[in-house]
Amino acid sequence: MTRIRWFGTNWKMNKSPQTAREWTTAVGTYMAEMPADQRLFVMPPYPLLPQILQDTKGTGLIVGAQNCHWVTSGAFTGEVSPQLLKEIGAHNVLLGHAERRKQFGETDEMIGRKASAALRVGLGVVLCIGEDASIKDDPATTRSFLEKQLSIALGDIPALAPEQLVVAYEPVWAIGVGADPPAVYEVAEQLRVIRHVVDQIVNEHVPIVYGGSVTLENGPSLLTETVADGLFIGRHALDPAMFIRIIQTALGERSVVE
Ligand code: PGA
Repeated sequence: MTRIRWFGTNWKMNKSPQTAREWTTAVGTYMAEMPADQRLFVMPPYPLLPQILQDTKGTGLIVGAQNCHWVTSGAFTGEVSPQLLKEIGAHNVLLGHAERRKQFGETDEMIGRKASAALRVGLGVVLCIGEDASIKDDPATTRSFLEKQLSIALGDIPALAPEQLVVAYEPVWAIGVGADPPAVYEVAEQLRVIRHVVDQIVNEHVPIVYGGSVTLENGPSLLTETVADGLFIGRHALDPAMFIRIIQTALGERSVVE
């Protein structure tokens, strides 16, 4: 069976309609020639979703939101329901990102309710999990922490359609400018743990991607020397040429130095 490789990016609170269009144009050109065993996804800020869905129709690009609520409608100022995301044509939603957990107080229980709601309306979910620096060097604690995040987030999910769920391992200590660079030996073991736990909870094959300071230099080893099915790239994918270059380099189609 061909192994599907996943490459995604979360734009966070970045980009304008103009720079978003430049990105989707460049990535669309790449996707026109892309082998069938690759999946690319992007999570833009909410207001850019309709434009990007329109501009990338037919390319195969998976376009999702960065968050959603767990109820269908109601008095929840500033929130967006999974139902509305589905109706406007979004394909998936990112849940549990470290920035949502830390800056907006999202708990495992809230993320579990969101995951359940989003999957039930037929959206895909990219579920982020990951430990922070305080437990990073304690393998047993990290293992039970990741197990707990997964079991609560996936505790009430419906039967999955193929490729409906992706788990993103994003160690908090590796995310963003100034973070510790992720060493392969450090993340490979956690990825194995996650693979094992996810396989116990979910019947469907669930791809697992690594995220947190993925670069041109570390992308190849993070992909090929771990059980990761793909890479989830943040700031280094804002430039579409770099996003494509990281993908092609990780797949061994280009070399790091050109
Ligand atoms: P980064 O972001 O690649 O800029 O560290 C990763 C993420 O938050 O998904």
